[in-house]
Amino acid sequence: MQFIETRGNDGKRPAKVTFSEAILNPSASHGGLYAPEALPDMSIGFLSEYLQSDYKTLAYALLQAFEIDIDDELIHEALERYDRFDDPNNPVPVAQVEEDAYVSELYHGPTRAFKDMALQPFGVILSALAEERNEEYLIMAATSGDTGPATLETFKNRPNIKVTCLYPSGGTSDVQRLQMVTEDAPNLKVIGIEGNFDDAQSALKELLVSDAFRKELKKRGIKLSAANSVNFGRIIFQIIYHIHSYLELVRQDVIALGEEVYLIVPSGNFGNALGAYYAKKAGLPVRKILIASNANNILTDWINTGVYDISDRTLVQTESPAMDILKSSNVERVLFDKFGAERTRKLMESLNETGAYRLTDEERKAIQEDFAGIYSTDEEGERIIAHYAEKGYLMDPHTATCFKAYEKLREEKIPTVVYSTAEWTKFSPTVAKALGIEVDGDREALEVIHQELGVPIPRVIAELFDKEIVHRTVVGKEEIMKEMLDFL
Ligand SMILES: *Cc1c(COP(=O)(O)O)cnc(C)c1O
Repeated sequence: MQFIETRGNDGKRPAKVTFSEAILNPSASHGGLYAPEALPDMSIGFLSEYLQSDYKTLAYALLQAFEIDIDDELIHEALERYDRFDDPNNPVPVAQVEEDAYVSELYHGPTRAFKDMALQPFGVILSALAEERNEEYLIMAATSGDTGPATLETFKNRPNIKVTCLYPSGGTSDVQRLQMVTEDAPNLKVIGIEGNFDDAQSALKELLVSDAFRKELKKRGIKLSAANSVNFGRIIFQIIYHIHSYLELVRQDVIALGEEVYLIVPSGNFGNALGAYYAKKAGLPVRKILIASNANNILTDWINTGVYDISDRTLVQTESPAMDILKSSNVERVLFDKFGAERTRKLMESLNETGAYRLTDEERKAIQEDFAGIYSTDEEGERIIAHYAEKGYLMDPHTATCFKAYEKLREEKIPTVVYSTAEWTKFSPTVAKALGIEVDGDREALEVIHQELGVPIPRVIAELFDKEIVHRTVVGKEEIMKEMLDFL
């Protein structure tokens, strides 16, 4: 299968590229993204064929159906990363929490957040492709907490890839910071920035457009790639678990094959939701995809009004920081899929130039055929955490945003999959607060919640507090480039 460009072609780049091209060099003409030219058929025939398959077999079948230009052997090696999850036979358990609500737990990987679902296998493939071509790539990440650890973890000690990771010093949880600064490998560099996540992200953007920096990279023979969800290599692995979760409901006798379900996705950059959209479009019986947001409710507005307007908005810091996003990159791929490249380019240009775009009524209705959206405040999220903890199910603040969608957005009470994107252990101070427990920092929060609720703390989290800190660099914005070049 070939990949085409969401904003059309500029006459300089190839109009179509292979999967490996799209993931090594993820930026397309006019600042657009790569999207699949077509989707494979994953409707009833496919579903019944893989109904009894384990996760890796299903994943392999899906990658095959996309006809990507990656050797079988490499695909298998990449999928073996799911053996590092809690239960290699079922890396994504689906647990019932209400009569018709089932939580699909995407956080059983090494960094305890759903980013592992895609980044683990993706890292293996990207590094192998770079090695095959004898090229060196640099991945630069700016993180508010989850992307950083998952990116470092997947690329550590991998050939032909170097990773630099910028995080806001003091702006992440203890667990998230420790996950980064204790990650010890010669190809990784973690840099704390004096400032908040916006400062880290804008520092990264400045570097990406800096001629001086590009020149230095060129001198060293280093190319740039990306590991965030603008890279289709992330998205392809985020289609699989939607199909898996559906088949789990069939296996658990909740639904018959072919019955429709709702999917509820806690969203930020819309990668997870886009995976759900592609699965639905490929034939998975999904009634609608319900998009849960926090106070940064740009997606709620977009879906309900057809207006995407960030011109007079500022980012709010919430208790679900991985969803604190205003420019949600993967919305563009939905626009492209529904309205084509020409229209997408116009809309995205309007967003860049004026900070806003408006869909026509017809276009808004087309979005609403697949999506509905709602947002929760931090207080609402805390109440949800406390409510379900009482009933014996502990969830993190991102997952909690889904339950307002569960209550308010379903037009019919049919079985519903709720995606859980992080383990409570990554956000334990917030969870403690929701439970009315006073604590000072992550370590105490973890211990007290573990004691009082009897929930386990995985070893990878407990051990963090005794690991040696290997990345001690914390600098001001001006010094970032020098730090990076010293490392490279
Ligand atoms: C990244 C992340 C999200 C948002 O996912 P998108 O694919 O960017 O929409 C939600 N929850 C957690 C815990 C995350 O790490």
